[in-house]
Amino acid sequence: MSAPTITPVTTRRQNPNAYAVRVQFDPLKPTDAPQEYYDEIKRKFAEARDLRLSYRPDGTQQYTSDLTGELGKYEIDPWVVEAASREPLTDHVECLFIGGGFSALLTAARLREKGIESVRIVERGADVGGTWYWNRYPGVACDVAAYDYLPLLDEMNYVPKSYFAQGPEIFAHCQAIAQRYDLYKLAVFQTTVTSTVWDKERKLWVIGTDRGDKMTAQYVIVANGTLSKPKLSKIAGMEKFKGHSFHSSRFDYQYCGQDLSNLKDKRVGIIGTGASAVQIIPRLGKAAKELYVFQRTPSAIDIRDDIPTDPAWAAALQPGWQAERFSRHMQGPQVSEEEKTRHAALSREERIRRYENQNIEHQMRIHARVDEIVQDKKTADALKPWYMHRCKRPCYDDEYLPAFNLPNVHLIDTNGKGITEITENGPVFEGQEYPLDVLIYATGFEVQVTGIYNRIVGEGDLDLQDKYKDGIQTLFGIHSHGYPNLFIMGGYQAPFQFNLTFMLRTQGQHIAECIAYAREHGFNTIDVSKQSEQWWVDQVIMHRGKTNRNKECTPGYYNFEGEDNRRQDGNYNGGFYQYYQHMQAIRGGMQQHFKFD
Ligand code: NDP
Repeated sequence: MSAPTITPVTTRRQNPNAYAVRVQFDPLKPTDAPQEYYDEIKRKFAEARDLRLSYRPDGTQQYTSDLTGELGKYEIDPWVVEAASREPLTDHVECLFIGGGFSALLTAARLREKGIESVRIVERGADVGGTWYWNRYPGVACDVAAYDYLPLLDEMNYVPKSYFAQGPEIFAHCQAIAQRYDLYKLAVFQTTVTSTVWDKERKLWVIGTDRGDKMTAQYVIVANGTLSKPKLSKIAGMEKFKGHSFHSSRFDYQYCGQDLSNLKDKRVGIIGTGASAVQIIPRLGKAAKELYVFQRTPSAIDIRDDIPTDPAWAAALQPGWQAERFSRHMQGPQVSEEEKTRHAALSREERIRRYENQNIEHQMRIHARVDEIVQDKKTADALKPWYMHRCKRPCYDDEYLPAFNLPNVHLIDTNGKGITEITENGPVFEGQEYPLDVLIYATGFEVQVTGIYNRIVGEGDLDLQDKYKDGIQTLFGIHSHGYPNLFIMGGYQAPFQFNLTFMLRTQGQHIAECIAYAREHGFNTIDVSKQSEQWWVDQVIMHRGKTNRNKECTPGYYNFEGEDNRRQDGNYNGGFYQYYQHMQAIRGGMQQHFKFD
């Protein structure tokens, strides 16, 4: 069985005009190795998945995001000393956002364009920014082209400093948006919404918070993010650990030092090797006396090769350049008539086979890159991902793999098992204890359910959680029947997008159009019809089978840790373009799909 020639990629200059999607497979390009080569690798992928699943069959239940009691410290905001005191609010606004991240900022800007003055953000953090408020760990940056990822670049007349934006630049951009659209005026920070209850008589929402507020709003937009609540792996004995510990999204610079210099005599451990850890580890490796990386499944590390924005390119950009990029993205790759004919001639099976083979070749390139960079063979082998591209979030980093060549950086590869025990001294694996001074949990975030955990009670006193108990029911993931004037962003039943901003942009536009329509026609409420909601649930179910992520991918948050019993509690897999088109079509027949009052 001969392998194809896999050329290790050593460098690649970014093209600033390239779309956010970076790796594309083309079924018209046949792969050249014998099929047994690919089949053998697929078999290894399946083995790795089965091994990982065999250790943690408890799926999403292996994690907890109930960070109360002893675990409460993992959620404390490290960026403020204490909450500023204020009187509870009982006032009224027209539009209220739960959450102050990208979803709220994007949509609030659209609302302003529609002439809506009274807009309030209620936010748990002490500022806007969401993900970029919380995640300030060393090395924090975004993996999507900044020209597509940062919202409202046309409106803000801003061009990012480099192809990939750093966390502080994105956070500052969020603050600038809030300034520009005057969103600080009514915003309340360090405030967590605890209940959102529909008042049928007054036709408005009553919003309760942990600060004793009882504000009202005509419209509520649930904008508290898809990955915003930190989660921890349930590990026996974790509460016994006597050293210092924190979650990656609450990075403790007081302990580590702003420049991490306090770590020079410390034994540091990090659990997890996902996108957050991949960015943190190189910095910890340089700063810590010893660094122990506890790995369960390796990430796929592709080339980052970031470059500063070319000033000449930036100066030549015409007004509306970001919107133009978005519409080019929506058009997708340009396919000639001849290519379309060749596509059509391929059977579904043949198309899938070629996609998979190219995917495997891509992953083998990722393997070759590990061999090229990591000197110790055992470590290099352990860092190779055995799953298809996009089963997990692909990472782009040029410093992560070299960090494992440092003498003080130790990879503790658990080969799918993970850390299952922590003593007062540190994590234990295969009977060996790793004593640590500080342990960082880079174990990720609760996925997508965030939008519904704030006790949302609609018509008939029905809690949204109860309505959803047999499966999520929405139109576009945004509207749910019986919850008038409520809009949910970034949650279930919307498509998956590597660049989340594209999706939020589309949703924000849709929400602003819906609210503007109701206002223009003198309606107080807008509620999706039962039929239109059911139509969308059927669409979601119909497209479920289009991806084999749940069945074939190694577990992770992309596939609900391999849980295979989900029908409609996931993403809409009919494609982002379809989603966008459906939205436009529905907006063409508002009276047919929504009930207005
Ligand atoms: P993830 O959920 O992606 O990663 C969690 C990590 O913890 C995984 O490696 C997981 O292993 C590991 N883990 C969990 N339990 C254990 C255990 N008991 N023992 C050992 N390891 C364990 O979280 P992240 O915070 O890294 O990333 C979340 C998302 O945030 C990203 O996917 C991305 O969408 C976004 N993000 C984007 C960035 C960017 O643009 N560059 C940067 C950072 C985050 P396993 O894989 O086996 O489950």
